[in-house]
Amino acid sequence: MESPEVYTEVYRKARKTHRCACCFREITRSTHYMECTGIWAGAPDRFRIHKSCYELYRKLSDRFHFDDPLPFEELETEARECGHAWPPPLEDKQRTLPMSAEGWLKKTTQ
Ligand SMILES: [Zn+2]
Repeated sequence: MESPEVYTEVYRKARKTHRCACCFREITRSTHYMECTGIWAGAPDRFRIHKSCYELYRKLSDRFHFDDPLPFEELETEARECGHAWPPPLEDKQRTLPMSAEGWLKKTTQ
Protein backbone atom coordinates (compact mmCIF):
# COMPACT_ATOMS: atom_id res chain seq x y z
CA MET A 1 0.00 0.00 0.00
CA GLU A 2 1.42 3.37 -0.97
CA SER A 3 1.06 6.49 1.13
CA PRO A 4 -2.40 7.94 0.62
CA GLU A 5 -2.81 11.39 -0.95
CA VAL A 6 -5.70 12.21 1.35
CA TYR A 7 -6.32 10.46 4.62
CA THR A 8 -8.70 10.86 7.54
CA GLU A 9 -9.37 8.72 10.58
CA VAL A 10 -12.45 8.98 12.74
CA TYR A 11 -13.88 6.85 15.54
CA ARG A 12 -17.43 5.77 14.91
CA LYS A 13 -19.99 3.66 16.65
CA ALA A 14 -21.20 0.82 14.48
CA ARG A 15 -24.87 1.13 13.55
CA LYS A 16 -24.65 -2.08 11.61
CA THR A 17 -22.22 -4.96 11.33
CA HIS A 18 -18.96 -4.35 9.46
CA ARG A 19 -15.89 -6.39 8.64
CA CYS A 20 -12.53 -5.44 10.15
CA ALA A 21 -9.78 -4.82 7.58
CA CYS A 22 -7.09 -6.00 10.02
CA CYS A 23 -8.36 -9.20 11.58
CA PHE A 24 -11.36 -9.85 9.30
CA ARG A 25 -13.61 -10.51 12.26
CA GLU A 26 -16.97 -8.92 12.57
CA ILE A 27 -17.33 -5.40 13.96
CA THR A 28 -20.38 -5.87 16.13
CA ARG A 29 -23.20 -3.35 16.17
CA SER A 30 -22.88 -0.61 18.81
CA THR A 31 -19.14 -1.18 19.40
CA HIS A 32 -16.56 1.40 18.34
CA TYR A 33 -14.42 1.19 15.27
CA MET A 34 -11.97 3.39 13.40
CA GLU A 35 -13.04 4.50 9.97
CA CYS A 36 -10.09 5.26 7.71
CA THR A 37 -10.95 7.08 4.52
CA GLY A 38 -8.36 8.06 1.96
CA ILE A 39 -7.25 8.27 -1.63
CA TRP A 40 -4.61 5.80 -2.67
CA ALA A 41 -3.11 6.31 -6.15
CA GLY A 42 -6.13 8.33 -7.18
CA ALA A 43 -8.65 5.80 -5.96
CA PRO A 44 -10.80 6.58 -2.92
CA ASP A 45 -11.17 3.77 -0.44
CA ARG A 46 -12.49 3.19 3.05
CA PHE A 47 -11.40 0.77 5.75
CA ARG A 48 -13.12 -0.06 9.00
CA ILE A 49 -11.11 -1.59 11.81
CA HIS A 50 -11.81 -2.52 15.41
CA LYS A 51 -10.82 0.00 18.04
CA SER A 52 -8.53 -2.61 19.63
CA CYS A 53 -7.00 -3.44 16.24
CA TYR A 54 -6.41 0.23 15.58
CA GLU A 55 -4.72 0.74 18.95
CA LEU A 56 -2.40 -2.17 18.25
CA TYR A 57 -1.78 -0.78 14.78
CA ARG A 58 -0.78 2.60 16.24
CA LYS A 59 1.42 0.98 18.84
CA LEU A 60 3.35 -0.98 16.21
CA SER A 61 3.53 1.95 13.77
CA ASP A 62 4.99 4.23 16.44
CA ARG A 63 7.48 1.61 17.51
CA PHE A 64 8.93 1.03 14.08
CA HIS A 65 8.49 4.49 12.55
CA PHE A 66 7.53 3.12 9.18
CA ASP A 67 8.20 5.47 6.28
CA ASP A 68 5.03 4.25 4.68
CA PRO A 69 1.95 3.34 6.66
CA LEU A 70 1.89 -0.28 7.74
CA PRO A 71 -0.64 -2.08 5.55
CA PHE A 72 -3.57 -3.26 7.66
CA GLU A 73 -3.30 -6.76 6.30
CA GLU A 74 0.28 -7.00 7.58
CA LEU A 75 -0.71 -6.15 11.12
CA GLU A 76 -1.08 -9.79 12.06
CA THR A 77 2.50 -10.64 11.02
CA GLU A 78 3.93 -7.64 12.86
CA ALA A 79 1.85 -8.28 15.95
CA ARG A 80 2.92 -11.93 16.17
CA GLU A 81 6.58 -11.05 15.66
CA CYS A 82 6.39 -8.53 18.49
CA GLY A 83 4.72 -11.01 20.83
CA HIS A 84 1.32 -9.35 20.90
CA ALA A 85 -1.81 -11.40 21.26
CA TRP A 86 -3.47 -12.02 17.94
CA PRO A 87 -6.22 -11.34 17.23
CA PRO A 88 -6.41 -8.52 19.79
CA PRO A 89 -9.15 -8.82 22.40
CA LEU A 90 -12.24 -6.97 21.30
CA GLU A 91 -13.97 -4.14 23.06
CA ASP A 92 -16.32 -5.45 25.68
CA LYS A 93 -19.78 -4.63 24.47
CA GLN A 94 -21.01 -4.53 28.04
CA ARG A 95 -18.82 -1.56 28.85
CA THR A 96 -20.38 0.67 26.23
CA LEU A 97 -23.46 2.55 27.26
CA PRO A 98 -26.43 0.85 25.65
CA MET A 99 -28.84 3.02 23.69
CA SER A 100 -31.60 2.07 26.06
CA ALA A 101 -29.65 3.49 29.01
CA GLU A 102 -29.26 6.84 27.23
CA GLY A 103 -32.98 6.90 26.62
CA TRP A 104 -33.59 5.99 30.20
CA LEU A 105 -31.33 8.81 31.40
CA LYS A 106 -33.14 11.34 29.24
CA LYS A 107 -36.47 10.17 30.55
CA THR A 108 -35.48 10.46 34.20
CA THR A 109 -33.80 13.89 33.91
CA GLN A 110 -36.66 15.64 32.17
ZN1 LIG B 1 -10.14 -6.23 13.99
